[in-house]
Amino acid sequence: MTLAADKIADESADLLAHLIRNACVNDGTPESGFESRSADVLAQYLGDTGLDLERYAAQPGRENLVARIEGSDPTAPTLLLMGHTDVVPVNPDGWRRDPFAGEIIDGEVWGRGAVDMLNLTATMAVAFRHLALSGFRPRGTLIYLAVADEENLGTWGAEHLLTRENEAVAADYVVTEAGGFQMPNAKGPRLPVIVGEKGSYWCRITVRGTPGHASQPFRTDNALVTAAEVVRRVAEYQPKARILDEWRRYVSELELAPELEAALVDPDRVLEAVRHLEPLGFARLAHACTHTTFSPNVVQGGSKINVIPDRIAIDVDVRALPGVAPLDVDAMLKEALGDMASRVEIEAPRGQEGSRTPFDTPLADALSRVTQALVPGSKIIPRLTGGGTDARYFRWKGVPSYGFALHSRRIPYTEYPLMFHGNNERVDTETLRLSATMWEALCRDFLA
Ligand SMILES: [Zn+2]
Repeated sequence: MTLAADKIADESADLLAHLIRNACVNDGTPESGFESRSADVLAQYLGDTGLDLERYAAQPGRENLVARIEGSDPTAPTLLLMGHTDVVPVNPDGWRRDPFAGEIIDGEVWGRGAVDMLNLTATMAVAFRHLALSGFRPRGTLIYLAVADEENLGTWGAEHLLTRENEAVAADYVVTEAGGFQMPNAKGPRLPVIVGEKGSYWCRITVRGTPGHASQPFRTDNALVTAAEVVRRVAEYQPKARILDEWRRYVSELELAPELEAALVDPDRVLEAVRHLEPLGFARLAHACTHTTFSPNVVQGGSKINVIPDRIAIDVDVRALPGVAPLDVDAMLKEALGDMASRVEIEAPRGQEGSRTPFDTPLADALSRVTQALVPGSKIIPRLTGGGTDARYFRWKGVPSYGFALHSRRIPYTEYPLMFHGNNERVDTETLRLSATMWEALCRDFLA
């Protein structure tokens, strides 16, 4: 690495370590997170740019930070780089390092948020500051946005800003987490860009029975026994597959055997094709990208070992393909339960719809140019994801929004899914350098 490259890596690692140490843990309660501490760190870091920094809080202690470099041409597009400052809770038992110490060990920054997504929140800020200090005067406006509360639906962050402070965050294009993990390929590394997310709905099915003495269970109406069959039917249920264009394009880039590729994009054959497919991680992804999925995860009920239970509640996590509405989910659950549907209560599904964004845009063209310069022979490819990000709030408004970053190959792309919300979250400093350099190059290319 050159001296300048070293400096970018060090500066990014240092800022990231600060954000990790702030431990802005969002446990879902309004008074958790306290992201204002990281808004302070970022404001201090960007302080010497001389730019006005704006802060917005929908909830005490949960500030969002906005910085902007105003463009010279009002007709040129505005690009918004968005990172969140909150992280999910940890169980330190499974970690080899202190999750909130922000240690830098052997070229890797360790801690909760290292890949979700304080790494990007930090490298976006580093690129933004370097652009500002270099006197970058683009045609289009550049906005840096650090949001709170992404890990609990964005109520106090992106959602609040887009509904109440739209002027501050109005943009034509958005980039946020995640993506850009290098996938080795015979034709050169493939770099996935997230262009769509599944919706997530939480559903509760309540099963009723008749209480009685457990010493005589014969011909009783035991709610738990009925619930077991409900769980079995929900877990087994497969709604008809739907092949989205994003999935078709993704599969076409993977250099798979032609028969397999054809089966993975055929709604009538994809389920059979993934049943015994290896590796397992790819089989799960292929299934999730082509189906609305149903996972029964929590059961509550029963009171005492000698009492036949009269009420069992089953919570089902439903991940719906974009375009699937709550009414559709309700209909699918009824189909899954068949003749049992009339014997249970299905609460109206609560949650949010998925989102999609076009891949053929000037921003994707710019991403393609800058990534090819940084990773020769690489190619960006569109991808869907099961997890939700704040990008959906922009996509729902029709703003093209991508999930992207640029990662080195030091940590294999197959390991990243395990680190999101998992144990031993960490990122290498070469990835930080690549991402920061990529953001800067993207802004210079796209906004010039
Ligand atoms: Zn995240």
